[in-house]
Amino acid sequence: MCDEQDLFGRQLPLTNGPANSRVRPAIVTIGRRRRCQRCQQWLLPTDCLPNQAWYCRQCLQLGRLTSHHKLYTIPEPNRFAPVAAPILTWLGKLSPMQGTAATGILDLVRQQRHQLLWAVTGAGKTEIVYPALAWALAQHWRVAWVSPRVDVCLELAPRLQQAFCHVPQALLHGKQTRPYHYRQLTLCTTHQLLRFQSAFDWIIVDEVDAFPLATSPLLQTAIATAQKPTGSHLYLTATPGEQLQRQVRQKKLAVTYLPLRYHGVLLPQIEVRLIWRWRERLTKGRLAPRLIRQLQDYRQRGQRFLLFVPHVLDLKPVAQALQRAGVTGGITVHAADGERAAKVQAMRDRTIPFLITTTILERGVTFPDIAVVVLGGDDAVFSTAALVQIAGRVGRHQDFPTGEVTVYCHSQSRRVRLAQRMIAQLNRQGKRLGGRRQ
Ligand SMILES: [Zn+2]
Repeated sequence: MCDEQDLFGRQLPLTNGPANSRVRPAIVTIGRRRRCQRCQQWLLPTDCLPNQAWYCRQCLQLGRLTSHHKLYTIPEPNRFAPVAAPILTWLGKLSPMQGTAATGILDLVRQQRHQLLWAVTGAGKTEIVYPALAWALAQHWRVAWVSPRVDVCLELAPRLQQAFCHVPQALLHGKQTRPYHYRQLTLCTTHQLLRFQSAFDWIIVDEVDAFPLATSPLLQTAIATAQKPTGSHLYLTATPGEQLQRQVRQKKLAVTYLPLRYHGVLLPQIEVRLIWRWRERLTKGRLAPRLIRQLQDYRQRGQRFLLFVPHVLDLKPVAQALQRAGVTGGITVHAADGERAAKVQAMRDRTIPFLITTTILERGVTFPDIAVVVLGGDDAVFSTAALVQIAGRVGRHQDFPTGEVTVYCHSQSRRVRLAQRMIAQLNRQGKRLGGRRQ
Protein backbone atom coordinates (compact mmCIF):
# COMPACT_ATOMS: atom_id res chain seq x y z
CA MET A 1 0.00 0.00 0.00
CA CYS A 2 1.31 3.47 -0.68
CA ASP A 3 0.29 7.01 0.04
CA GLU A 4 -2.35 8.39 -2.30
CA GLN A 5 -0.18 11.38 -3.22
CA ASP A 6 2.62 9.10 -4.39
CA LEU A 7 0.33 7.92 -7.20
CA PHE A 8 -0.73 11.32 -8.53
CA GLY A 9 0.26 11.28 -12.20
CA ARG A 10 2.43 8.20 -11.70
CA GLN A 11 2.36 4.64 -12.97
CA LEU A 12 3.74 2.26 -10.37
CA PRO A 13 3.77 -1.54 -10.16
CA LEU A 14 2.02 -2.35 -6.87
CA THR A 15 0.28 -5.34 -5.40
CA ASN A 16 -2.31 -3.17 -3.74
CA GLY A 17 -3.22 0.51 -4.08
CA PRO A 18 -5.68 3.09 -2.77
CA ALA A 19 -9.34 2.50 -3.71
CA ASN A 20 -9.46 5.48 -6.08
CA SER A 21 -6.48 4.37 -8.17
CA ARG A 22 -6.77 3.15 -11.74
CA VAL A 23 -5.26 -0.24 -12.41
CA ARG A 24 -4.08 -1.79 -15.67
CA PRO A 25 -1.92 -4.74 -16.62
CA ALA A 26 1.78 -3.96 -16.99
CA ILE A 27 2.22 -6.08 -20.12
CA VAL A 28 -0.56 -6.40 -22.69
CA THR A 29 -0.89 -8.82 -25.58
CA ILE A 30 -1.73 -7.25 -28.93
CA GLY A 31 -2.19 -9.88 -31.64
CA ARG A 32 0.82 -12.13 -31.27
CA ARG A 33 3.03 -9.51 -29.70
CA ARG A 34 3.36 -8.18 -26.18
CA ARG A 35 3.87 -4.58 -25.21
CA CYS A 36 5.08 -2.97 -22.00
CA GLN A 37 2.65 -0.35 -20.70
CA ARG A 38 5.30 1.52 -18.75
CA CYS A 39 7.69 2.25 -21.62
CA GLN A 40 5.47 1.36 -24.60
CA GLN A 41 8.17 -0.82 -26.18
CA TRP A 42 7.54 -4.27 -27.69
CA LEU A 43 8.80 -7.39 -25.95
CA LEU A 44 10.89 -9.96 -27.81
CA PRO A 45 9.54 -13.52 -28.18
CA THR A 46 12.35 -14.63 -25.86
CA ASP A 47 11.53 -12.24 -23.00
CA CYS A 48 9.91 -14.96 -20.92
CA LEU A 49 10.92 -16.04 -17.41
CA PRO A 50 11.05 -19.68 -16.19
CA ASN A 51 7.77 -19.06 -14.29
CA GLN A 52 6.08 -18.24 -17.63
CA ALA A 53 5.82 -14.53 -16.84
CA TRP A 54 6.74 -12.10 -19.60
CA TYR A 55 9.02 -9.21 -18.71
CA CYS A 56 10.21 -5.99 -20.33
CA ARG A 57 13.95 -5.66 -20.79
CA GLN A 58 13.74 -2.10 -22.14
CA CYS A 59 12.85 -0.46 -18.82
CA LEU A 60 14.60 -3.05 -16.67
CA GLN A 61 16.73 -0.44 -14.94
CA LEU A 62 13.63 0.90 -13.17
CA GLY A 63 12.96 -2.56 -11.72
CA ARG A 64 11.72 -5.65 -13.54
CA LEU A 65 8.16 -5.31 -14.78
CA THR A 66 6.39 -8.60 -15.60
CA SER A 67 3.02 -9.76 -16.86
CA HIS A 68 2.19 -10.57 -13.21
CA HIS A 69 2.36 -6.87 -12.33
CA LYS A 70 -0.31 -4.21 -12.49
CA LEU A 71 0.34 -0.50 -12.89
CA TYR A 72 -1.46 1.84 -10.47
CA THR A 73 -2.27 5.47 -11.28
CA ILE A 74 -4.30 8.32 -9.82
CA PRO A 75 -4.99 11.04 -12.42
CA GLU A 76 -2.98 14.18 -11.71
CA PRO A 77 -5.13 16.55 -9.58
CA ASN A 78 -2.62 19.46 -9.37
CA ARG A 79 -3.21 19.54 -5.64
CA PHE A 80 -0.44 21.82 -4.45
CA ALA A 81 -0.34 24.17 -1.51
CA PRO A 82 -0.27 27.82 -2.65
CA VAL A 83 3.28 29.14 -3.03
CA ALA A 84 4.36 32.18 -1.05
CA ALA A 85 5.08 35.23 -3.21
CA PRO A 86 7.34 36.01 -4.92
CA ILE A 87 7.56 32.72 -6.78
CA LEU A 88 10.81 33.71 -8.49
CA THR A 89 13.39 34.49 -5.82
CA TRP A 90 16.34 34.72 -8.21
CA LEU A 91 18.10 38.05 -7.70
CA GLY A 92 20.11 38.10 -10.93
CA LYS A 93 19.28 40.21 -13.92
CA LEU A 94 18.82 39.11 -17.52
CA SER A 95 20.76 40.97 -20.20
CA PRO A 96 18.56 42.79 -22.75
CA MET A 97 19.16 39.94 -25.22
CA GLN A 98 18.30 37.27 -22.65
CA GLY A 99 15.24 39.29 -21.69
CA THR A 100 13.96 39.27 -25.27
CA ALA A 101 14.41 35.50 -25.48
CA ALA A 102 12.72 35.03 -22.07
CA THR A 103 9.68 37.01 -23.23
CA GLY A 104 9.52 34.93 -26.41
CA ILE A 105 9.45 31.72 -24.38
CA LEU A 106 6.81 33.05 -22.01
CA ASP A 107 4.54 34.04 -24.92
CA LEU A 108 4.79 30.56 -26.42
CA VAL A 109 4.21 28.72 -23.15
CA ARG A 110 1.06 30.79 -22.53
CA GLN A 111 -0.17 29.48 -25.89
CA GLN A 112 0.84 25.95 -24.75
CA ARG A 113 2.96 25.45 -27.83
CA HIS A 114 5.83 23.02 -28.17
CA GLN A 115 9.02 25.00 -28.50
CA LEU A 116 12.79 25.02 -28.78
CA LEU A 117 15.28 27.42 -27.27
CA TRP A 118 18.40 27.34 -29.46
CA ALA A 119 20.99 29.14 -27.39
CA VAL A 120 24.77 29.00 -27.71
CA THR A 121 26.67 27.19 -24.96
CA GLY A 122 27.09 29.59 -22.06
CA ALA A 123 24.18 31.85 -23.08
CA GLY A 124 22.64 31.42 -19.63
CA LYS A 125 19.72 29.41 -21.00
CA THR A 126 18.61 28.21 -17.57
CA GLU A 127 17.90 31.73 -16.34
CA ILE A 128 16.13 32.60 -19.58
CA VAL A 129 13.48 30.03 -18.69
CA TYR A 130 12.86 31.42 -15.17
CA PRO A 131 10.15 34.00 -16.02
CA ALA A 132 8.13 31.40 -17.96
CA LEU A 133 8.63 28.84 -15.19
CA ALA A 134 7.45 31.34 -12.57
CA TRP A 135 4.35 32.00 -14.67
CA ALA A 136 3.65 28.26 -15.08
CA LEU A 137 3.99 27.63 -11.34
CA ALA A 138 1.63 30.52 -10.63
CA GLN A 139 -0.97 28.75 -12.83
CA HIS A 140 -0.71 25.70 -10.51
CA TRP A 141 0.86 23.77 -13.33
CA ARG A 142 2.85 20.70 -12.47
CA VAL A 143 6.25 21.11 -14.13
CA ALA A 144 9.16 18.76 -14.81
CA TRP A 145 12.66 19.91 -15.68
CA VAL A 146 14.44 16.90 -17.15
CA SER A 147 17.78 16.04 -18.69
CA PRO A 148 19.22 12.85 -20.13
CA ARG A 149 22.34 13.53 -18.05
CA VAL A 150 22.42 13.09 -14.30
CA ASP A 151 25.29 15.61 -14.00
CA VAL A 152 23.04 18.26 -15.48
CA CYS A 153 20.32 17.46 -12.91
CA LEU A 154 22.77 17.53 -10.03
CA GLU A 155 24.19 20.87 -11.08
CA LEU A 156 20.77 22.34 -11.71
CA ALA A 157 19.11 21.22 -8.45
CA PRO A 158 20.70 23.78 -6.09
CA ARG A 159 20.25 26.55 -8.66
CA LEU A 160 16.52 25.91 -9.05
CA GLN A 161 16.17 25.55 -5.28
CA GLN A 162 17.65 28.99 -4.86
CA ALA A 163 15.79 30.60 -7.73
CA PHE A 164 12.39 29.27 -6.57
CA CYS A 165 13.05 28.90 -2.86
CA HIS A 166 9.39 28.77 -1.77
CA VAL A 167 8.48 26.09 -4.32
CA PRO A 168 8.76 22.50 -3.02
CA GLN A 169 10.91 20.48 -5.41
CA ALA A 170 11.73 16.82 -5.99
CA LEU A 171 15.02 15.57 -7.41
CA LEU A 172 14.83 12.10 -8.97
CA HIS A 173 17.59 10.03 -10.53
CA GLY A 174 18.81 6.44 -10.50
CA LYS A 175 21.03 6.85 -7.46
CA GLN A 176 18.65 9.00 -5.39
CA THR A 177 18.29 7.53 -1.90
CA ARG A 178 15.68 9.97 -0.59
CA PRO A 179 12.07 8.73 -0.91
CA TYR A 180 9.73 10.14 -3.55
CA HIS A 181 7.48 13.05 -2.62
CA TYR A 182 4.69 14.67 -4.59
CA ARG A 183 5.95 18.12 -5.61
CA GLN A 184 4.86 20.85 -8.01
CA LEU A 185 8.34 21.07 -9.53
CA THR A 186 10.22 17.87 -10.34
CA LEU A 187 13.81 17.78 -11.52
CA CYS A 188 14.80 14.40 -12.91
CA THR A 189 16.63 12.34 -15.49
CA THR A 190 14.63 11.47 -18.60
CA HIS A 191 14.55 7.82 -17.50
CA GLN A 192 12.63 8.73 -14.36
CA LEU A 193 9.77 10.08 -16.50
CA LEU A 194 8.87 6.45 -17.23
CA ARG A 195 7.33 6.36 -13.75
CA PHE A 196 4.85 9.12 -14.67
CA GLN A 197 1.68 9.20 -16.70
CA SER A 198 -0.10 12.37 -17.88
CA ALA A 199 1.39 14.20 -14.93
CA PHE A 200 2.99 17.35 -16.25
CA ASP A 201 1.47 20.46 -17.76
CA TRP A 202 4.90 21.55 -18.95
CA ILE A 203 8.12 19.61 -19.45
CA ILE A 204 11.42 21.39 -19.95
CA VAL A 205 13.92 19.08 -21.64
CA ASP A 206 17.44 20.31 -21.01
CA GLU A 207 20.22 19.21 -23.41
CA VAL A 208 17.66 17.58 -25.68
CA ASP A 209 20.28 16.50 -28.22
CA ALA A 210 22.42 14.72 -25.62
CA PHE A 211 23.05 11.01 -25.73
CA PRO A 212 21.07 8.83 -24.99
CA LEU A 213 17.87 10.84 -25.50
CA ALA A 214 18.57 11.77 -29.11
CA THR A 215 18.79 8.13 -30.18
CA SER A 216 16.33 6.52 -27.80
CA PRO A 217 12.68 5.91 -28.77
CA LEU A 218 12.14 4.75 -25.19
CA LEU A 219 13.08 8.13 -23.73
CA GLN A 220 11.16 10.05 -26.36
CA THR A 221 8.10 7.96 -25.42
CA ALA A 222 8.79 8.71 -21.75
CA ILE A 223 8.41 12.44 -22.42
CA ALA A 224 5.22 11.99 -24.43
CA THR A 225 3.65 9.74 -21.77
CA ALA A 226 4.59 11.87 -18.78
CA GLN A 227 3.15 14.98 -20.41
CA LYS A 228 -0.58 15.65 -20.05
CA PRO A 229 -2.56 15.52 -23.32
CA THR A 230 -3.11 19.27 -22.85
CA GLY A 231 0.53 19.81 -21.87
CA SER A 232 3.47 21.16 -23.84
CA HIS A 233 7.24 21.00 -23.75
CA LEU A 234 10.27 23.21 -24.19
CA TYR A 235 13.49 21.79 -25.58
CA LEU A 236 16.75 23.49 -24.62
CA THR A 237 19.89 22.98 -26.64
CA ALA A 238 22.97 24.60 -28.08
CA THR A 239 23.35 22.01 -30.81
CA PRO A 240 20.03 20.82 -32.22
CA GLY A 241 20.32 17.69 -34.34
CA GLU A 242 19.02 17.34 -37.88
CA GLN A 243 15.62 16.03 -36.70
CA LEU A 244 14.91 19.06 -34.50
CA GLN A 245 16.10 21.50 -37.15
CA ARG A 246 13.67 19.85 -39.57
CA GLN A 247 10.77 20.22 -37.11
CA VAL A 248 11.64 23.91 -36.82
CA ARG A 249 11.69 24.30 -40.61
CA GLN A 250 8.34 22.51 -40.86
CA LYS A 251 6.99 24.84 -38.16
CA LYS A 252 6.05 21.91 -35.90
CA LEU A 253 8.24 23.44 -33.27
CA ALA A 254 8.35 27.15 -32.43
CA VAL A 255 11.89 28.43 -31.93
CA THR A 256 13.63 31.18 -29.99
CA TYR A 257 17.29 31.90 -30.89
CA LEU A 258 20.06 33.23 -28.72
CA PRO A 259 23.32 33.22 -30.68
CA LEU A 260 25.39 35.22 -28.20
CA ARG A 261 26.65 34.53 -24.69
CA TYR A 262 25.48 36.84 -21.93
CA HIS A 263 28.91 38.51 -21.67
CA GLY A 264 28.79 39.36 -25.37
CA VAL A 265 32.07 37.69 -26.38
CA LEU A 266 31.86 35.31 -29.36
CA LEU A 267 32.42 31.57 -28.97
CA PRO A 268 35.99 30.26 -29.00
CA GLN A 269 36.81 28.55 -32.29
CA ILE A 270 38.37 25.08 -32.38
CA GLU A 271 42.04 24.90 -33.32
CA VAL A 272 42.95 21.61 -34.98
CA ARG A 273 46.43 20.10 -34.68
CA LEU A 274 47.36 16.95 -36.54
CA ILE A 275 49.41 14.34 -34.70
CA TRP A 276 50.30 11.30 -36.73
CA ARG A 277 49.41 7.90 -35.23
CA TRP A 278 48.94 9.11 -31.67
CA ARG A 279 47.29 5.86 -30.66
CA GLU A 280 50.27 3.72 -31.70
CA ARG A 281 52.49 6.06 -29.79
CA LEU A 282 50.25 5.76 -26.74
CA THR A 283 50.56 1.97 -26.73
CA LYS A 284 54.28 2.59 -26.28
CA GLY A 285 53.47 4.85 -23.35
CA ARG A 286 54.14 8.15 -25.08
CA LEU A 287 52.18 11.19 -26.21
CA ALA A 288 53.00 13.67 -28.98
CA PRO A 289 55.64 16.25 -27.90
CA ARG A 290 53.36 19.10 -29.09
CA LEU A 291 50.61 17.98 -26.77
CA ILE A 292 53.00 17.52 -23.86
CA ARG A 293 54.49 20.99 -24.42
CA GLN A 294 51.06 22.59 -24.46
CA LEU A 295 50.00 20.90 -21.23
CA GLN A 296 53.33 21.65 -19.50
CA ASP A 297 52.84 25.26 -20.47
CA TYR A 298 49.31 25.23 -18.98
CA ARG A 299 50.63 23.74 -15.74
CA GLN A 300 53.41 26.37 -15.49
CA ARG A 301 50.97 29.22 -16.11
CA GLY A 302 48.45 27.80 -13.66
CA GLN A 303 45.93 27.42 -16.49
CA ARG A 304 43.42 24.75 -15.47
CA PHE A 305 42.19 22.40 -18.20
CA LEU A 306 40.05 19.46 -19.22
CA LEU A 307 41.69 16.81 -21.39
CA PHE A 308 39.10 14.77 -23.28
CA VAL A 309 39.97 11.29 -24.56
CA PRO A 310 37.77 9.04 -26.73
CA HIS A 311 37.40 5.96 -24.51
CA VAL A 312 37.53 4.85 -20.87
CA LEU A 313 40.42 2.55 -21.77
CA ASP A 314 42.46 5.57 -22.92
CA LEU A 315 42.31 7.25 -19.51
CA LYS A 316 44.95 5.23 -17.71
CA PRO A 317 47.65 5.17 -20.42
CA VAL A 318 47.19 8.90 -21.04
CA ALA A 319 47.44 9.65 -17.31
CA GLN A 320 50.58 7.51 -17.06
CA ALA A 321 52.19 9.12 -20.11
CA LEU A 322 51.52 12.58 -18.69
CA GLN A 323 52.92 11.56 -15.32
CA ARG A 324 56.12 10.38 -17.00
CA ALA A 325 56.36 13.66 -18.89
CA GLY A 326 56.04 15.62 -15.65
CA VAL A 327 52.48 16.86 -16.21
CA THR A 328 51.18 15.91 -12.77
CA GLY A 329 48.36 16.64 -10.35
CA GLY A 330 45.38 15.69 -12.52
CA ILE A 331 42.98 12.78 -12.13
CA THR A 332 40.80 10.72 -14.45
CA VAL A 333 37.02 10.47 -14.49
CA HIS A 334 34.46 8.51 -16.52
CA ALA A 335 30.74 7.65 -16.51
CA ALA A 336 30.87 4.55 -14.29
CA ASP A 337 33.43 6.07 -11.92
CA GLY A 338 32.09 5.69 -8.36
CA GLU A 339 33.82 8.91 -7.31
CA ARG A 340 32.68 10.87 -10.32
CA ALA A 341 30.67 13.49 -8.43
CA ALA A 342 33.46 14.01 -5.86
CA LYS A 343 36.08 14.39 -8.60
CA VAL A 344 34.03 16.95 -10.52
CA GLN A 345 33.50 18.80 -7.26
CA ALA A 346 37.26 18.76 -6.59
CA MET A 347 37.78 20.39 -9.99
CA ARG A 348 35.11 22.96 -9.16
CA ASP A 349 36.75 23.63 -5.80
CA ARG A 350 40.10 24.15 -7.56
CA THR A 351 41.81 21.47 -5.48
CA ILE A 352 43.02 19.75 -8.67
CA PRO A 353 44.52 21.45 -11.73
CA PHE A 354 43.07 19.22 -14.46
CA LEU A 355 40.76 16.33 -15.27
CA ILE A 356 41.32 13.67 -17.91
CA THR A 357 37.83 12.70 -18.97
CA THR A 358 35.62 10.89 -21.45
CA THR A 359 32.75 12.75 -23.10
CA ILE A 360 30.67 12.65 -19.88
CA LEU A 361 31.87 16.16 -19.11
CA GLU A 362 31.03 17.48 -22.56
CA ARG A 363 28.07 19.44 -21.25
CA GLY A 364 26.23 20.63 -18.18
CA VAL A 365 29.30 21.29 -16.07
CA THR A 366 30.79 24.74 -15.73
CA PHE A 367 34.27 25.59 -14.53
CA PRO A 368 35.36 29.21 -14.81
CA ASP A 369 38.68 29.95 -16.53
CA ILE A 370 39.20 26.58 -18.17
CA ALA A 371 41.06 25.49 -21.31
CA VAL A 372 39.97 22.43 -23.25
CA VAL A 373 42.10 19.92 -25.10
CA VAL A 374 40.72 16.94 -27.03
CA LEU A 375 42.94 13.99 -27.88
CA GLY A 376 41.69 11.95 -30.84
CA GLY A 377 39.02 14.43 -31.94
CA ASP A 378 38.55 12.42 -35.14
CA ASP A 379 37.29 9.39 -33.17
CA ALA A 380 33.62 8.60 -33.86
CA VAL A 381 32.60 9.20 -30.21
CA PHE A 382 33.11 12.90 -30.79
CA SER A 383 30.02 13.85 -32.77
CA THR A 384 29.72 17.35 -34.19
CA ALA A 385 27.34 18.27 -31.35
CA ALA A 386 29.74 16.81 -28.76
CA LEU A 387 32.65 18.86 -30.15
CA VAL A 388 30.62 22.08 -30.14
CA GLN A 389 29.58 21.34 -26.56
CA ILE A 390 33.15 20.56 -25.51
CA ALA A 391 34.40 23.80 -27.08
CA GLY A 392 31.55 25.51 -25.23
CA ARG A 393 33.09 24.62 -21.84
CA VAL A 394 35.52 27.49 -22.46
CA GLY A 395 34.98 31.18 -21.79
CA ARG A 396 31.65 30.85 -20.01
CA HIS A 397 32.37 33.10 -17.07
CA GLN A 398 31.95 36.85 -17.20
CA ASP A 399 35.43 37.37 -15.71
CA PHE A 400 37.02 34.80 -18.05
CA PRO A 401 35.11 35.16 -21.33
CA THR A 402 37.91 33.79 -23.54
CA GLY A 403 40.08 30.69 -23.71
CA GLU A 404 41.62 28.00 -25.89
CA VAL A 405 40.09 24.92 -27.50
CA THR A 406 42.59 22.57 -29.10
CA VAL A 407 41.64 19.37 -30.87
CA TYR A 408 44.38 16.86 -31.70
CA CYS A 409 43.54 14.46 -34.55
CA HIS A 410 45.34 11.76 -36.44
CA SER A 411 43.72 13.04 -39.63
CA GLN A 412 41.25 15.68 -40.80
CA SER A 413 37.71 14.78 -39.84
CA ARG A 414 34.38 15.81 -41.30
CA ARG A 415 32.77 16.01 -37.85
CA VAL A 416 35.46 18.40 -36.61
CA ARG A 417 35.07 20.58 -39.71
CA LEU A 418 31.27 20.67 -39.22
CA ALA A 419 31.75 21.65 -35.58
CA GLN A 420 34.02 24.53 -36.65
CA ARG A 421 31.40 25.52 -39.20
CA MET A 422 28.58 25.48 -36.61
CA ILE A 423 30.63 27.69 -34.28
CA ALA A 424 31.45 30.08 -37.14
CA GLN A 425 27.77 30.22 -38.12
CA LEU A 426 26.66 31.05 -34.56
CA ASN A 427 29.42 33.65 -34.30
CA ARG A 428 28.26 35.32 -37.53
CA GLN A 429 24.74 35.64 -36.04
CA GLY A 430 26.25 36.78 -32.75
CA LYS A 431 28.36 39.43 -34.47
CA ARG A 432 25.26 40.93 -36.04
CA LEU A 433 23.93 41.43 -32.53
CA GLY A 434 27.12 43.24 -31.54
CA GLY A 435 29.19 40.30 -30.27
CA ARG A 436 32.91 40.92 -29.65
CA ARG A 437 35.81 38.75 -30.77
CA GLN A 438 37.97 36.92 -28.22
ZN1 LIG B 1 9.08 -1.46 -20.37
